[in-house]
Amino acid sequence: MYLIKKSEVLNIARELAKDHLVYGPVTDEATGQVLFDSLDDPGKADLGAPIPTIPPKNVVFPQMECIYSYRYDKNSRAVDIRQVNAVKPKALFGLRSCDLEGMRILDRFFLGQEFVDDFYLNNRKKTFIVTNTCIAPFAQCFCVCTDSGPSAKEGFDLNLTELGDEYLVEAGSDRGKALAEKLGLAKADGSYAAKKTAAVDRAMDLFTGFAVENKAWVSRVTNRVTTGFIKEDVWEYIGDQCFECGACTFVCPSCSCFNIEDVNKNDGSTERLRSWDSCSYEGYSKMAGDHNPRKPVEDRRNKRFFCKLSYSQSKKYLRPGCVGCGRCAWVCPGDIGLPNVVTYIRRETTK
Ligand code: SF4
Ligand code: SF4
Ligand code: SF4
Repeated sequence: MYLIKKSEVLNIARELAKDHLVYGPVTDEATGQVLFDSLDDPGKADLGAPIPTIPPKNVVFPQMECIYSYRYDKNSRAVDIRQVNAVKPKALFGLRSCDLEGMRILDRFFLGQEFVDDFYLNNRKKTFIVTNTCIAPFAQCFCVCTDSGPSAKEGFDLNLTELGDEYLVEAGSDRGKALAEKLGLAKADGSYAAKKTAAVDRAMDLFTGFAVENKAWVSRVTNRVTTGFIKEDVWEYIGDQCFECGACTFVCPSCSCFNIEDVNKNDGSTERLRSWDSCSYEGYSKMAGDHNPRKPVEDRRNKRFFCKLSYSQSKKYLRPGCVGCGRCAWVCPGDIGLPNVVTYIRRETTK
């Protein structure tokens, strides 16, 4: 464990910027919106900003990326295939623990199964992560209900915790430790572990709203979703409110679905593009021959909540599929973000 003065904490981002493209939280002055953006000037990172509207998952899983380019030569009948994956080292500075857990779910999806996704792996292994403990939760947060905060437990290179005029800096990897040593950070004595625990405990007491009212219900609803306890008319009610816009998927740090399309270029080559997809779209489960096993919207909406809350998914991710960031509740025009669905199922169960 190390210490750095609050006034000097951005030196960590500045040092990373020497050989990484650094992303961090910034507040857009015109709109007040918080973005997790690439920083021309790492000194602009705002460690006190609330969680960004869009999680930084696009750094490791871009919203759209060209993964191959190929060209067919009719005369020689030869195909020239080129894999496109030139990735610069990147650093995420000031990531919140919920978004780190979202990324760890993506890791298990893309890297932890039978086939390893080379494109994701290439992005991921070049990403340095500096997390930032939430010493005060934000209004929509419920990471305490999903075991994803308010402080990161593992998976970071460095973790920062604000303690008055200084930050406690914990190294979670050899490269994190090397950076702390390179910066010449002072060593923290043993008393700082207790100071950090006290700061996290204080943060836990500051959660309000959904996080307090439904704490036990996130796991109870998981039980009910898994055992098929939710009646069809409940899923129909939820599905009827869905506009099939896909916003909940795109702001969700743990959603991993994608589509592949080949696009012909004017120069005779073809690009293979991978882009985010959403189970809310009617075409998501359409098969050859126009067969669609999930045509009714409620069949696609319950898919989302099986994905986030069922035991079979939790077994795959080794944790709930939802990390409690609350973003889907912000953006859903139908008012069926995950917190509302849990509340609705709770009311249906207890009425
Ligand atoms: S389901 Fe909603 S609250 Fe849960 S991680 Fe995704 S966006 Fe956040
Ligand atoms: S199935 Fe739906 S909820 Fe699950 S990862 Fe895909 S888009 Fe997200
Ligand atoms: S944000 Fe709401 S309305 Fe849009 S697809 Fe998701 S659940 Fe449906």
